[in-house]
Amino acid sequence: MNFNFTEEQLMSQESARDFAQNEIAPSAVERDIKAEFPTEIVKKLGKLGFMGMMVSPEYGGAGMDTISYVLAMIEISKVDASVGVIMSVNNSLVCWGLEEYGSEALKQKYLIPLAKGEKLGAFALSEPEAGSDATQQHTTADKDRDFFIINGIKNWTTCGTTADFYLVIATTDKSKGYKGISTLLVEKGIQGFAHGKKEDKLGIRSSDTCSLTFENCKVPKENLLWEEGKGFNFAMNTLNGGRIGIAAQAIGIAEASFDAAVKYSKDRKAFGNPISNLQAIQFKLSDMAVKVDCAKLLTLKAAALKDADKPYYKEAAMAKLYSSKIAVECALEAIQVHGGYGYVREYLVERYLRDAKITEIYEGTSEIQKMVIARALLDGK
Ligand SMILES: Cc1cc2nc3c(=O)[nH]c(=O)nc-3n(C[C@H](O)[C@H](O)[C@H](O)COP(=O)(O)OP(=O)(O)OC[C@H]3O[C@@H](n4cnc5c(N)ncnc54)[C@H](O)[C@@H]3O)c2cc1C
Repeated sequence: MNFNFTEEQLMSQESARDFAQNEIAPSAVERDIKAEFPTEIVKKLGKLGFMGMMVSPEYGGAGMDTISYVLAMIEISKVDASVGVIMSVNNSLVCWGLEEYGSEALKQKYLIPLAKGEKLGAFALSEPEAGSDATQQHTTADKDRDFFIINGIKNWTTCGTTADFYLVIATTDKSKGYKGISTLLVEKGIQGFAHGKKEDKLGIRSSDTCSLTFENCKVPKENLLWEEGKGFNFAMNTLNGGRIGIAAQAIGIAEASFDAAVKYSKDRKAFGNPISNLQAIQFKLSDMAVKVDCAKLLTLKAAALKDADKPYYKEAAMAKLYSSKIAVECALEAIQVHGGYGYVREYLVERYLRDAKITEIYEGTSEIQKMVIARALLDGK
């Protein structure tokens, strides 16, 4: 692992930081209150190459490495974790999944506009009865000559109402259990496919989450990714990389909490002095700084392994488990440093706590990350 970032990696970090501060920050509070999707921001992110960062230029992407992606995700999520998750799903679940497992025809038709940010993608694995246990796919996709006919319900789809293309995981052969699950690309607007209303969420409120329903929805067989029966492996492999993105999102929130706590502690006076002079406050800041750095090192390690084509699933799970945990802890401590002011919307730290919590839940809960890590350890990986 190289501790010196390349020029390209630093450029990606800097341009994400500039964009986040100048274009995302001014409307972040209002969008959180109104639960308003950042349509224009997402379009601009696409034009800057942030929606298909790791996709090869051949398919319209920026051709960058995972480290550049992590650095950019941290900067964006530091300002608005809702924008962070939209960027993360498009990059590490949809684009990565399509580039890795899509046919050439699917890449030409769907990956190019997704990577350029002209179209938006969603990843539909979860169902009302299939969350942590993703093998329990009740959504079916039955083969009918040149088509698959999809029936069922998906839950919690990020960008569910706003996406153009959806990677849908469904059971194509019930008799084979999880080996009978496949992945299909579904276009918005086709007959038999509808989305529910946006969920009213605790955090990442300006991102869009909803259910999807399929009623005899006819999808051409060419829209199958990888091959029949590989859908569960597809989902697990894709989520391994996705976890690096969510870890980076969590680090962004943790870093924002830390920065806010430092600033406020210097400004706020109690007993005649800034509270930053108090050792009790200084220890909180030190603990936060150490946690943020540890999370960054774990996440960059997972990213470096992925870039070196080495196994990274254990490290990605470790990075997500730890980064999400400390994001919640840092947000809580930042509120404590702010006292009563931390509990109201006037200061940003209450949003950081609401946004941080989801990172312990989606793309595999913390309990599931521990299972993944333990299995790897027991297998001697
Ligand atoms: C805002 C938001 C956005 C989301 N975006 C997407 C998306 O884009 N695409 C998508 O497919 N899904 C998405 N999800 C779904 C998310 O990935 C699931 O919510 C998550 O995987 C947990 O599943 P569940 O909610 O069914 O909880 P459950 O699986 O029912 O878990 C409930 C509790 O039991 C624990 N638990 C379950 N099994 C075990 C076990 N074996 N050992 C120990 N503890 C266990 C869990 O850790 C959790 O604490 C999103 C969810 C939210 C809230």
